[in-house]
Amino acid sequence: MVYLSKYIVVTGGVVSSIGKGITSASIGRILRSYGVDVTAIKIDPYLNWDSGTLNPYQHGEVFVTEDGMETDLDLGHYERFLDVNLSGESNITTGKVYSSVIEHERKGDYLGSCVQIIPHITNKIKDMVRKIAHETQAEVVLVEVGGTVGDIESQPFLEALRQLRNEEGHDNVMFVHVTYVPYLRAAGEFKTKPTQHSTKELRSTGIIPDMIICRSEYPIDQPLKNKISHFCDVEREAVINTPDVHSIYEVPLILNQEHVGEYITNRIKIEAKEQDLEEWKEVVKSLKQEDYQVSVGIIGKYVELEDAYMSIRESLKHAAAHLGIKVNIEWIQAEEKIDENKVSHLDSLLIPGGFGERGISGKLDAVRYSLQNDVPLFGICLGMQCMVIEFARLNGLKGAHSTEFDQKALHPVIDLMEEQKKIKNMGGTMRLGSYPCKLKDGTMAKEAYGENEVSERHRHRFELNNDYRDILMEKGLVISGTSPDDFLVEMIELEEHPWFLGCQFHPEFKSRPNNAHPIFISFLKAALANHKQKNG
Ligand code: GLN
Repeated sequence: MVYLSKYIVVTGGVVSSIGKGITSASIGRILRSYGVDVTAIKIDPYLNWDSGTLNPYQHGEVFVTEDGMETDLDLGHYERFLDVNLSGESNITTGKVYSSVIEHERKGDYLGSCVQIIPHITNKIKDMVRKIAHETQAEVVLVEVGGTVGDIESQPFLEALRQLRNEEGHDNVMFVHVTYVPYLRAAGEFKTKPTQHSTKELRSTGIIPDMIICRSEYPIDQPLKNKISHFCDVEREAVINTPDVHSIYEVPLILNQEHVGEYITNRIKIEAKEQDLEEWKEVVKSLKQEDYQVSVGIIGKYVELEDAYMSIRESLKHAAAHLGIKVNIEWIQAEEKIDENKVSHLDSLLIPGGFGERGISGKLDAVRYSLQNDVPLFGICLGMQCMVIEFARLNGLKGAHSTEFDQKALHPVIDLMEEQKKIKNMGGTMRLGSYPCKLKDGTMAKEAYGENEVSERHRHRFELNNDYRDILMEKGLVISGTSPDDFLVEMIELEEHPWFLGCQFHPEFKSRPNNAHPIFISFLKAALANHKQKNG
């Protein structure tokens, strides 16, 4: 059967960082509650081929998909809100579009023609969008355009999506424009002018929005919505307001109160089943724990921007909700000295993934503190590598280090993986994506997962050096997870410690609000036990 997908294109106006990704994901969640099958695409108009080479301060965390693509963090929102695994092709960038067109040109695929933005680039964009529709056979494809309307970079994408509406038909494509309605305290009122201007800007590209979602600090009233409807020429019931909320997971419920699902299903003629939003309401309720609070200190070098560790933050929230507790995250700058004063009040510590030497000594301080004070410590990727280094140093291997930071280390306990040694290009060449991991009987890892083998997502070049495996095991390090052929160490832990566990992979990419990750749950259980012991 040839499937006809419908498209919902989400654009943004006025300012960035207004939660367009969460709004798109929430629209998807609402449609799913009507039994509609939804997938999502993020368009990033920058020239990088993918986000793998971007500094997290620029763009937040790099989200890794099952198929090993380094993508924008909005894909993480989509996966968590829609409860689906997306392919890396769901992240379209200017880099991917142009490099593909240039490759075709070099092959001679356009022989005789002058290759131009219209039609070659715009056709390529439409092909990439339709390919996702075709491969997923989703009833609805959400297409979020990054940036704000008016940016030079996004013009070819808006033009392509305008053409898409013409080609697919009015009933099959709709446009949602997300804007910001500021509240001017001095004047004591909301201002709609920026929304009017950005809608005008969008219209100048030929795109007529069907719905305007107004983000605001506080709820706006009906007369103001009527004004936006009037000036922006959008139906009254299609002017939607999502004021700031406590938790991002509440946004689908707000959209639902505003009858977004009904409007969309009518507008693009989708057959809606009876709505069932119960599971999501349960999720929102379970995330609202206040009674029992447990703290986690996250030691990283990008802690000034929480988005750099978005999936870890969300995974901790999911696990806390699962246990019926509230997790308080304290962000600790790894570039400073980590000592008792900084961390003794905390119930647990977590060292996330990372690259480069900056902040390493603070992370090693944190490992030492955990080992000497029996504080639960969770190390992810670089975090696990730091655990191995400091454990080795404290157990007689004084010159232990990773060759990422010291190529001449006396004891290179962490070293470049064999297949990485010949690699020259930086982009997309790490060990990326999903790989199986075999778990050892009688370990915390196996107990937490309750399975013999699991599959987790990776993003690294270095590994535990097999030359040191026996020595470290003699000193008490437990190798609790390996690749099925036993060659790569995937998980480590200690028996003589309440909870000291590291994994070479990134479990945070697979946690869902309705399905918290077992390792995060096990970690927070240990943090809770420590909290109870400390506080009686
Ligand atoms: N820099 C380390 C490596 O490449 C860790 C990577 C990570 O934490 N994602 O192996």
